Amino acid sequence: MDQSFRALLLEKSETGQTATFRTLTLGDLMEGDTVVRVTHSTLNYKDGLAVTGKAPIARKYPMIAGIDLAGAVETSTDPRYKPGDAVVLNGWGLSESHYGGYAGVARVKGEWLVPLQAPFSAAEAMAIGTAGYTAMLAVMALEDQKVHPGGGPVLVTGAAGGVGSVAIALLAKLGFTVIASTGRPEEADYLKGLGAQEIIPRAELSGDPRPIAKERWQGAVDSVGSKTLANVLAMTRYGGAVAACGLAQGMDLPGSVAPFILRGVTLTGIDSVMCPRPRRLEAWTRLARDLDRERLAAMTAHHGLSEIPDLANRILAGQVRGRVVIDVAR
Ligand code: NDP
Repeated sequence: MDQSFRALLLEKSETGQTATFRTLTLGDLMEGDTVVRVTHSTLNYKDGLAVTGKAPIARKYPMIAGIDLAGAVETSTDPRYKPGDAVVLNGWGLSESHYGGYAGVARVKGEWLVPLQAPFSAAEAMAIGTAGYTAMLAVMALEDQKVHPGGGPVLVTGAAGGVGSVAIALLAKLGFTVIASTGRPEEADYLKGLGAQEIIPRAELSGDPRPIAKERWQGAVDSVGSKTLANVLAMTRYGGAVAACGLAQGMDLPGSVAPFILRGVTLTGIDSVMCPRPRRLEAWTRLARDLDRERLAAMTAHHGLSEIPDLANRILAGQVRGRVVIDVAR
């Protein structure tokens, strides 16, 4: 394999964090039993936070950014893998404590990898990425709480974002009536194309919450947090469930216990980073079954690694729609 490769390296200087493209070699990488030739990565909200340094994602420096990667195994001492195997990695501390996917080569633990799920290509797996696999985990969590297509509509907040877009496509394919909440009314046609039946303005949910309000949905996938999540809970029907995945509005939860104790509503938390391997494999199997590939293509834009610094600012500004695939060679 080529001895040198390009990587987006986060470094700490006296003035703060910098993100610089550097040429590295295998010897610069961290410990691991498996070397992967990375072909594709992606851009999630968390990648935006990591690359800009707007939140402390990297826990040590230097750090290669990128929480996701897809590529082919070059070498491995893990008996599960042989050279050429197509693999995917989501989370497990990449870009936090272990060098991540914004690099031509990664050295990782084999136990963090999942086999590329047929029929997806490496690029499609990254179109899904952490955002899409998290949306799947959220839908599975709602199903665990008996949220079902006949039980009434399901709300998706942060609808035009990555988690939101994949959640809409999944829920629609499963037969749910999907309500999409967005701050981008100009994306109504896009959201309807993914399967949303009703679009509501983000502002309906982002103000000061009442402890309990009119029942509007059986369940929700929320990537926004804060007042929005409190409002979503207050408007969830008796016995419903809300999957909390994100914090695009904020990390606080300024709400009331009323939805829990008066309506038996369940708030279920979603973590993709340390999610155990069996649940990951189940999520990827479900994505292969329940995610419409044409809708995945419709929500995906393709960019090169060189564009990451600009894209990182754009995703934090709420200017990225759907999902982004990063071609690591460009
Ligand atoms: P995106 O930026 O793609 O999507 C976030 C969306 O949230 C935006 O597109 C926008 O949707 C909405 N939004 C942005 N700012 C605000 C605001 N101030 N108030 C209300 N809505 C807002 O990010 P991702 O989809 O990659 O991630 C979404 C969230 O989920 C992030 O907070 C991320 O950290 C979290 N996450 C958590 C994971 C986990 O393991 N729990 C894994 C993956 C993501 P619109 O324009 O439609 O209003």
